[in-house]
Amino acid sequence: MQGLMMDYPLTLTHFLERAQRLYAQKEIVSKTPVGIHRYTYGDLYARVCRLANVLHKLGIRKGDRVATFAWNSYRHLELYLAIPCVGAVLHTINIRLFPQQIAYIFNHAEDKACFVDESLLPLLEPIKGQLKSVKNFVVMSDKPAFHTGLSPASDYEMLLQQAPAHYDFPQLDEQQAAGICYTSGTTGEPKGVLYSHRALVLHTLVQCLADSFGICERDVVLPAVPMFHANAWGLTLSCTMLGAKQVFTGPFLQPRDIAQLIQDERVTLAAGVPTIWIGLYQLLKKEKFDISSLRTMPVGGSAMPQSLIEAYQKDFNIPIAHSWGMTELSPVGTVSKPKSYLENIPEAEYFKLRAKQGIPVPFVEIRGMDEGGNEIPWDGVTIGELQVRGPWVVSGYYNDPRSPDSFQDGWFRTGDVVVIDKEGYIQIVDRTKDVVKSGGEWISSVDLENAIMAHPKVLEAAVIGVAHPKWSERPLACVVPTEDAKGSITRDEIIEFLSDKVAKWWLPDDIVILEAIPRTSVGKFDKKTLRHQFRDHQWPE
Ligand code: ADP
Repeated sequence: MQGLMMDYPLTLTHFLERAQRLYAQKEIVSKTPVGIHRYTYGDLYARVCRLANVLHKLGIRKGDRVATFAWNSYRHLELYLAIPCVGAVLHTINIRLFPQQIAYIFNHAEDKACFVDESLLPLLEPIKGQLKSVKNFVVMSDKPAFHTGLSPASDYEMLLQQAPAHYDFPQLDEQQAAGICYTSGTTGEPKGVLYSHRALVLHTLVQCLADSFGICERDVVLPAVPMFHANAWGLTLSCTMLGAKQVFTGPFLQPRDIAQLIQDERVTLAAGVPTIWIGLYQLLKKEKFDISSLRTMPVGGSAMPQSLIEAYQKDFNIPIAHSWGMTELSPVGTVSKPKSYLENIPEAEYFKLRAKQGIPVPFVEIRGMDEGGNEIPWDGVTIGELQVRGPWVVSGYYNDPRSPDSFQDGWFRTGDVVVIDKEGYIQIVDRTKDVVKSGGEWISSVDLENAIMAHPKVLEAAVIGVAHPKWSERPLACVVPTEDAKGSITRDEIIEFLSDKVAKWWLPDDIVILEAIPRTSVGKFDKKTLRHQFRDHQWPE
């Protein structure tokens, strides 16, 4: 039909060019092992052009996968833009995976080149013999010289210096692959999720909406989520599109580092998994940092305890935007902000709502399916598996025969167990593999954890199902006390505390006190390890 709109491709190149034209003087700040590094979007653009020439010189062509093995920094951002914009595929590798998994995904993705931070060389050097496809390693170092056993290896800064300053970015097809990321493989080998330019552009647009993360040019954004997993939740692309100042932590992810950066750079939006904010809260209660610049904190990756959402709001006036996402969704799927007519509900209800994972963002469709394959009603009580579809939802794993199991008539099966209320807010009850099955009934480990973490003496709690002679499985709570409560916290006081908060048959049959809860590669409670550790747990009489 004549007279329709232009067929303008949705590619990341537009973000890059736009940032250079409109926001050349806006800043990008990185904490590095040798101090704070500052430059502008103008500088970024100039280096991305040089980097594009370097990629060409290294033999990288359209469709080739290029690995990054790096912390959050301006260099990683350069790679985030240069690799997709030359038509290649950015493969961010999770540095916290086991060495065997890292080797597996290098080989599965057939990465042609690898850009690695000098500080991370000790993780790659022991497996160098297994990295079959990599033809070049490029080391990103802050010092004039470095040593590595990887070969052939070159120096990132040297290559950039020697490269021509000009580069004409090609016109790309929006359906072309821009990036790939592997799931952290909690069950079986990691699976590859391939992102198209179109998917990432649409995801970026929707992420910036006021009812989503609400990012704008004026924001100063600190992604406390790693760029090596799930696209740093898309934050770096959103900032680039809008010219928002970005603040990168490098390897410095301790609460004190984050508090200092928020204070010094006047950060307005910081995003990360709950663990980061649990740590920060403890610090802020003890020491004074000026974090008044923060206007919102998107939190996701695992369930943010309601008690902490309340504490941040009441103690520091920071509204947490609880969000749910997955590597398979680029990653944002839902965001929890109360609808206007829900703002004035009673306080207890209000925080309960805020602690839900929220409603789907535009273009993400959701449904819950029960075990019989029927759609569950949106009544806030019926439990089902969350299924999703949309333009930034995976349609099949990269070169993986396991793909069909993850889909049902065009919907992606998330493996998350949810209830959906009548307003469309989802609440993650559990992951299918973490739910506790007691005498044929399901107990939500997430709900129990939430209830336990509201106890003032509790820092963290993880609940797992452990075999039980009568009930097949019963909940065991693993609890880490706060610094002050070490040695004084008791099993009975926690049970007593829970008794008017959860159904009687949900009460954990036992509580173990731990120094720390083991973490997965992306900082979530590692329940697989806990289940293994306590598989022979002796229940009290
Ligand atoms: P993996 O942990 O397998 O690497 P992701 O990092 O992509 O995968 O995490 C996706 C999973 O994290 C979701 O399927 C869900 O179980 C969990 N998750 C993400 N956000 C939340 C949240 N806000 N509350 C509870 N669980 C969440």
